[in-house]
Amino acid sequence: MRVRVGATTDVGVVREQNEDAYLVRAPIYAVADGMGGHQGGEVASRLALETVDRKSREDHEVDLRNAVRDANRVVLDRASGDTNLSGMGTTLTMLRVEGPRVRLAHVGDSRAYLLRDGELRQLTDDHTLVNRMVREGKLTEDEARIHPQRSILTRALGVDGELEVDVFTVDLDPGDRVLLCSDGLTSIVADDEIRGILMSHPDPQAACDELVAAAIRGGGPDNITVVVLDVEEGEDDPPPARGAPAGEESPPQTETSPPPKRGLLRRLVLWVLLPLLLLSAALLLTRAYIDTQWFVGVHEENVALYRGIPVEVLGFELFTLVERTDLPADRAAELQPYQELEGGITADSEGQAREVIEQIEEDLERVTAP
Ligand code: MN
Repeated sequence: MRVRVGATTDVGVVREQNEDAYLVRAPIYAVADGMGGHQGGEVASRLALETVDRKSREDHEVDLRNAVRDANRVVLDRASGDTNLSGMGTTLTMLRVEGPRVRLAHVGDSRAYLLRDGELRQLTDDHTLVNRMVREGKLTEDEARIHPQRSILTRALGVDGELEVDVFTVDLDPGDRVLLCSDGLTSIVADDEIRGILMSHPDPQAACDELVAAAIRGGGPDNITVVVLDVEEGEDDPPPARGAPAGEESPPQTETSPPPKRGLLRRLVLWVLLPLLLLSAALLLTRAYIDTQWFVGVHEENVALYRGIPVEVLGFELFTLVERTDLPADRAAELQPYQELEGGITADSEGQAREVIEQIEEDLERVTAP
């Protein structure tokens, strides 16, 4: 028997963290829905999945009830050693493919369903207060689904050292489809709609994605996790469609990792650092140019030699005084060639600028000569 698998977990619309997790590592498949403040829920669901994953790799035929009880103890131990994590817990619904059968182990209100010949059957019982009331005839199924206390669990990992685990076997036929999911799906999407989506999406990953999309369309108040297994005639399990390939490290998947920070860095370089660099280069070039320039101007009513250009930009003078002569500026400016003296007579070199000053001196001497 071959298994094709799809898996998706989504934080949903309302929650800030995804406390759900799934495990896809043939022949073990599982979902866990963690709860508890701070990081508690996230830690509990991951710890539970990591533990059952480790147990089943150590012993391929491990008793699933014992594996789940080990996971319970690991969650309890971790919670008692860290006040931030105290009170954390998790559901766990897992299965192991065993030839033409699946062995299931279940605690909490995540669910396993079997789709066979177009009929959807819930394989697990919800360990919730409302489900107990339904069984006792105090509530209908429809009332239970919208009951405000529907998420109160009567059983979970991380609550007590003793844990009752539902364990059972289901025979599978080729063409069967098994769904594992957290209550983020089933409290929003009715069984009939789940059935319709499973029927209309032959690809297991497409079915998972559409189930999550349906829960999000319904408001997505909770984290949503779905794993879909298709049972086919054949020899081996192929690698899972998504998640860790069989036999490799790091199995439990939660929501996708945040986008890499490199994009931010690139944007910073592009929009901040690059313009700064260009501006600096422009200033350096301008500065280099200015330093080659000279002009003759006025300083305290006398003709003076300046380096730079006779310009002020935003209060910054692009020139420095080099030498003040004793030639009177107002008299020089009266002479036709030096009318622009106040604004600066530019020159391409110091020598040229000094020639202008000498010329002014000569011309002034000439006009004052009797
Ligand atoms: Mn949930």
